[in-house]
Amino acid sequence: RAKTDGRGIARVFVEEMERLVRERREMEVDLQTAWRDRQFFLVYQPIVEAESGRIAGFEALLRWRHPERGLVSPSDFIPVAEETGLILPLGAWVLTEACVAATAWPESLFVSVNLSPIQFRGAEAFRQVRSALESSGLAPSRLEVEITESTLLHEGPMVRATLEQFSEEGITVALDDFGTGYSSLGYLRTLSIGRIKVDRSFIEQVETSPQSLAIVRAIVGLARTLGLRCTAEGVETEGQRRLLTAEGCSHLQGYLLGRPGSAEEALRRARASAA
Ligand code: C2E
Ligand code: MG
Ligand code: MG
Ligand code: MG
Repeated sequence: RAKTDGRGIARVFVEEMERLVRERREMEVDLQTAWRDRQFFLVYQPIVEAESGRIAGFEALLRWRHPERGLVSPSDFIPVAEETGLILPLGAWVLTEACVAATAWPESLFVSVNLSPIQFRGAEAFRQVRSALESSGLAPSRLEVEITESTLLHEGPMVRATLEQFSEEGITVALDDFGTGYSSLGYLRTLSIGRIKVDRSFIEQVETSPQSLAIVRAIVGLARTLGLRCTAEGVETEGQRRLLTAEGCSHLQGYLLGRPGSAEEALRRARASAA
């Protein structure tokens, strides 16, 4: 009896594994097709100056419109693109596309682009950034690059050198999803970081959890003391906005300030905010 049950469970397990492998394989094939057929596009989410409420810049966010499955989340397909190496040409395309879009905005606005750890292997990230700036003609001071703590953790001395080169050129490096990784504070002291982005998980609970508030307060205070800009991610309520502004957080991003929108919408918003 028990034996049959055991076999039954094993069979279900094997079938489940086979299904996952099949889905994964399909995603890899679909991503190749998507790249060939240009199914990717960018949306832009405003990053707002907390005090004035004016738009300071936009974060470029990648979207994939699958012909049958519709919109696929970057959290689902970027890990696969990283494993297959597609993230290299895709990441280069994102950089150029975003820089070109930003050249149409008022000059005081920046564009922020997410970089994958894979782009930091070799000198790829630096080459790609340089080529995007050259072909678009965007001033380096109007570009920000967002990296996560995993980029700092797993990649060697190359990352440090690349970040230094970025900041020498006037490109701001932002540490994304801050507080969710290892958060070694040493990074902030020894690396060329210009901005901290406080992860949405802390902002979500900042009004209800004293622990989250304490953490946000500490991060915002640290940023101020070190002279770094600080963006709160995922601001959804008026209460969060008030609180974060009172705490001295310099920038806000989230559905309350604006959802990600098309390049045309970003241009409209940018012009309206500058006027
Ligand atoms: P991220 O860089 O931390 O981007 C912020 C994510 O939070 C975005 O999700 C954005 O749409 C979402 N968000 C913004 N405001 C709010 C809010 O008020 N409430 C809630 N619930 N969510 C909010 P998205 O666009 O799905 O992107 C997910 C992640 O995928 C990004 O997280 C980033 O890590 C990655 N990603 C997106 N585009 C690229 C890209 O071009 N290259 C790379 N390497 N990664 C990318
Ligand atoms: Mg980001
Ligand atoms: Mg983020
Ligand atoms: Mg995040």
